[in-house]
Amino acid sequence: MKGGRSSELFDRAKRVLPGGVNSPVRAFRAVGGTPFFVARGHGSSLVDVDGREYVDYVCSWGALILGHAHPAVLAAIHVAAEHGWTYGAPCPAEVELAEEVRGRMPSLEVMRFVNSGTEATMAAVRLARAATDRDLIVKFEGCYHGHADGFLVKAGSGVATLGLPDSPGVPAALASLTLTAPFNDATAVAELFRKHAKRIAAVIVEPYVGNAGFIPPDADFHPALRALCDDHGALLIFDEVMTGFRVAAGGAQERLGIVPDLTTLGKIVGGGFPVGVYGGRADLMRRIAPDGPVYQAGTLSGNPIAMAAGLATLRETEAPGFYDQLERRTARLLDGLQEAARRHGVPMTAGHAGSMWGMYLVEGPVRNYADAKRSDTALFARWHKAALTRGVFLAPSAFEAGFVSSAHSEADIDFTIQELDAALGEARAH
Ligand SMILES: *Cc1c(COP(=O)(O)O)cnc(C)c1O
Repeated sequence: MKGGRSSELFDRAKRVLPGGVNSPVRAFRAVGGTPFFVARGHGSSLVDVDGREYVDYVCSWGALILGHAHPAVLAAIHVAAEHGWTYGAPCPAEVELAEEVRGRMPSLEVMRFVNSGTEATMAAVRLARAATDRDLIVKFEGCYHGHADGFLVKAGSGVATLGLPDSPGVPAALASLTLTAPFNDATAVAELFRKHAKRIAAVIVEPYVGNAGFIPPDADFHPALRALCDDHGALLIFDEVMTGFRVAAGGAQERLGIVPDLTTLGKIVGGGFPVGVYGGRADLMRRIAPDGPVYQAGTLSGNPIAMAAGLATLRETEAPGFYDQLERRTARLLDGLQEAARRHGVPMTAGHAGSMWGMYLVEGPVRNYADAKRSDTALFARWHKAALTRGVFLAPSAFEAGFVSSAHSEADIDFTIQELDAALGEARAH
């Protein structure tokens, strides 16, 4: 978008912000071109500062399950803001949201609110280490758990997109406490447990990978992880920052029938405000200060406006058939994309869980990050650009999940299939 207000803003932004952005993938480096700057969002669409409108499949990276500026959430924010926006003392909305979360995900018997997914996973690992008196954690290649030091090892999308295997600034001693295995490979995890018997505190996993594109788990993968953790006295942490309240009313743990020891949440739980949660078994969570010695705190944690936005969002998702309708729309979108890919002779492997979805431009199956990396990123980049010109905003990387919100209408899905079909034809003809 040369010469417009977005490009002017991006030039200014680059002088004062690294890469012109406050989170790396937003800079569009993986797809080329320059990012658009948003003037406003409404329902399923974003309008940029040059007046162009896009059907939005990023949905603030999954945080907005109701779409932009949902009236019920807006009303709740207004009411909350009238009463001030941070107290540094407890408020009723914290209790209400915690009860709501526990009602939907009973494994979170006790929880703590923080301000981001990153904070939630950091704290969950600290607690796991304290509770087990062990140091090592196991994560999976391509899974992203926020940007804390110990997680920037084989960490998927943002990191992968930039081609940084690790990050400078992460001490080797810290990185060495993180062991990695391929997703969907319980045998590799069993091998890690065999080698490091009594040193592994926890296995942390995105139950459906969403930060390396979308990768569903094999049916026996999570039961095997649960059993390995039980056999070796390690904790199983489900990082549901993306999947929580997204893939089902009770998250991936409900959809998969697995009870993790600890769970981390973010994105949807804050209704688009900066909220994270870590929680789980009461006996573990009682170790957190001030009940126990494991320290963790936050000046703005439990923020009344964020709590109100999260609560209003979750209540909207309780409408009868809410998740079924989202799932059906998402399935229809993917059927349309796969049909278009077949017609254009482009290999595509697509999948979804609820309204979280993804597609790789490669023959399947895609079971792990190594499989995902075989996809045609150059074709994806051209497709992304053509889609944007036609009014469809896909995540600016071949290794991100997409999201459908309840604001995406059947007409939006029809429009999207038609425009992405045409855009794929253009990208392929290149
Ligand atoms: C987004 C995400 C995080 C990080 O959350 P932030 O709020 O960006 O810090 C952690 N884990 C998963 C699975 C995520 O998708």
